[in-house]
Amino acid sequence: MATTADLLALLEDMNAIIQENKNYLTELDMPIGDSDHGINLARGFQAVVDKLPAMEGKDAGFILKTVGMTLVSTVGGASGPLYGTAFMKAAATANGKTEISQEDFLSMLTAAVDGVKLRGKATTGEQTMLDAMVPALEAMRAKTGDASPSEVLSAGLAAAEDGVERTKDMIATKGRASYLGERSLGHQDPGATSFTLLFSTIVKRFG
Ligand code: ADP
Ligand code: MG
Repeated sequence: MATTADLLALLEDMNAIIQENKNYLTELDMPIGDSDHGINLARGFQAVVDKLPAMEGKDAGFILKTVGMTLVSTVGGASGPLYGTAFMKAAATANGKTEISQEDFLSMLTAAVDGVKLRGKATTGEQTMLDAMVPALEAMRAKTGDASPSEVLSAGLAAAEDGVERTKDMIATKGRASYLGERSLGHQDPGATSFTLLFSTIVKRFG
């Protein structure tokens, strides 16, 4: 069970991992995009952390909605509206909640994935962030039952990491990388990578 104070601490972790991997994410976006994914997310998560004081003592719905709106207005590119939508959709499942159970978290992730699919008009196999998000969610759903919360989260992370690897075998059909057609083959998707980094902070803190 996570509290809203844990959620605020998690946002600091998310910002830290994005700042640490800013250059890496931007380098991944170089051959198949416009070399800005790390820069975009670093700007966005810094803006999120700057707003932490305004989120203190609020419920999870308010916090996640603030994160989503901040990302939409500061990240830019394709990933800004997509990550923004993910957090805002997760927020809608968390209104009024001050504690988050594993079941709540699965509902949030489900809403986030559905939101990204709808907003990006995309599905799996198109070399996008969904190729990490969907496997993570499916692996977690498959694990629930008698598995511990930590086992469920670890299964999600392993599936996301595997999904990132698999993007190298895909031809991009959405976003900037799709302009390259078959030349996108062999490249690791920046968005799938950033999702997996963000997800790893959840696993580290709550797993
Ligand atoms: P831009 O491509 O506009 O420069 P970013 O570089 O910040 O934006 O983000 C690129 C990432 O966004 C891609 O690696 C991919 O994961 C994700 N992305 C792009 N288009 C879509 C889409 N339609 N659906 C899902 N994810 C997408
Ligand atoms: Mg880009």
